[in-house]
Amino acid sequence: MKDTLKTVSIIGAGIAGLASSIRLTLLGYEVSVYEANDYPGGKLFDWTQEGYRFDMGPTVFTMPSYLKELFDLAGKDMNDYIEIIQPEIPFHYFFEDGLVLQFHSDLEKLIFEIASKTNDQPEAVRAYLNKAETKFELTKNVFLHNSLNILSNYLTKDALRGMIRIGEVEVFTSMDKSNRSAFTDKRTVDLFNSFASYLGSNPYKAPGVLNVISHFQINGGVYFPVGGMQSILNATYKLACELGVKFHFGQKVDRILVEKKKVCGISIGGVTFPSDLVVSNMDVYFAYKHLMPDQKEPKKVLDHPKSHSVLVFHWGMKKSFPQLALHNMFLSADMSDEYGTIYKNADIGDHFTYYINVSKKINDSDAPAGCENWYVLVNAPNLQGQDWDAMQLKVRKKLLQKMEKALGEDVEQYIQFERIRDPRDHAQQTNIAFGAIYGNSFDQTFSVFHRHPNFSKRIHGLYFCGGTVHPGSGVPLTLLSAKIVSDLIVKKYSQKVGSNGK
Ligand SMILES: Cc1cc2nc3c(=O)[nH]c(=O)nc-3n(C[C@H](O)[C@H](O)[C@H](O)COP(=O)(O)OP(=O)(O)OC[C@H]3O[C@@H](n4cnc5c(N)ncnc54)[C@H](O)[C@@H]3O)c2cc1C
Repeated sequence: MKDTLKTVSIIGAGIAGLASSIRLTLLGYEVSVYEANDYPGGKLFDWTQEGYRFDMGPTVFTMPSYLKELFDLAGKDMNDYIEIIQPEIPFHYFFEDGLVLQFHSDLEKLIFEIASKTNDQPEAVRAYLNKAETKFELTKNVFLHNSLNILSNYLTKDALRGMIRIGEVEVFTSMDKSNRSAFTDKRTVDLFNSFASYLGSNPYKAPGVLNVISHFQINGGVYFPVGGMQSILNATYKLACELGVKFHFGQKVDRILVEKKKVCGISIGGVTFPSDLVVSNMDVYFAYKHLMPDQKEPKKVLDHPKSHSVLVFHWGMKKSFPQLALHNMFLSADMSDEYGTIYKNADIGDHFTYYINVSKKINDSDAPAGCENWYVLVNAPNLQGQDWDAMQLKVRKKLLQKMEKALGEDVEQYIQFERIRDPRDHAQQTNIAFGAIYGNSFDQTFSVFHRHPNFSKRIHGLYFCGGTVHPGSGVPLTLLSAKIVSDLIVKKYSQKVGSNGK
């Protein structure tokens, strides 16, 4: 069996599918990627209208080292494919009482900014960020860089160190409780609680270990791919094509074929495409429900509560707003009510946090002179039969009122055109269950164990990557999922199938 496997089918050309295709091609496999849409990138895509360009999915780019690893592995210089810069002040945080914090990339400047404008001391902020880094160091090898479902991964020196220091990781307290014990000013607490939304989680329920997310953004830094997020996709896709990955667009896979508990390929419209291994980059819920209806489902994983979703307004604005940075977070004054309404009532209430991305601030060609491309995102419940047309209208009205208060003028008059995307659109665009763009929620103490592993425990040769499986959603974690898949395949099947390529 070993060394004779040659072919891999990947279902989905999301960023994790592309990263997996690169890694597996470099291991010597012949890789074919089947994508339902007629373009690569999945949630990562852009849209151009009347001289404005909008990123439509991810906008905050952290941990570029995970991307660089793909180019390093291929012996290429990432800078030949993509230009990545680090803005000096990537974020502005706005509070309803009028406070505005400028998030400097320089840590000492940032600590000074928070400490001089809130009631928290610089030592408290510094200690918090150090603690977030420690959490990352203690958990990365168990929770992020490896499969959680391989016993030997718990027996390494790093894993044991993490277990001995489990108190510091804060698994048994919530993000909010942990943040309240670190800071005295409610606004600082809210600021750090807001990072929960990066994983579609509720800071009042999600375990304190998830405060590690602020480590990604603050200690690790926020970067910008020149040209917009689409440049990440273009660079990765270009590399995959150069390496010989075969892409098949407009091909919706309808079955993962299994014989005697082993995958043997996929099928599309009744036509069989045999392969030795299959990597699914699609939503894991639908992979079981639609592509393997005859196989036993991992019920605990599929039935686990799902993350929340987002409602996004794309507005072409006929004006420039100097108050805004590349990323702007407007925190609600009552986050507890905000999350309570999302999770208990499956609704968006009067209190909500919103985020405005303006890539024009860096990428000048993204909007005409004197204009701006606004990407306005509001946390929203996942699909539970709501009237989304009514929800759009309700939130838009409230949003405009909030913006008028925060920015000092009626912004509606500057909207040249708009496109609104609610969870129904996210669900339809990349075929995701309940429009839950981050997959299973992380809101329970042991939620990490309720994400699907990167391999099938029952079907040999079947692997999973992407934002709905381990270790989580977001561009950095999905890139890590591809790494874990390729590491698992190397471990199980061989060191290398052939010499770089075939
Ligand atoms: C609005 C929004 C904002 C976000 N903001 C951020 C952010 O700021 N920073 C960040 O890091 N992350 C962000 N994310 C999350 C991030 O975009 C995702 O976690 C990541 O892009 C997911 O990549 P993926 O490879 O897992 O899957 P996807 O991008 O979902 O790709 C899966 C692919 O599989 C295809 N597919 C599905 N079913 C089939 C089938 N049967 N046959 C063939 N193909 C199929 C789909 O068409 C899709 O192309 C955001 C997401 C959204 C939607």
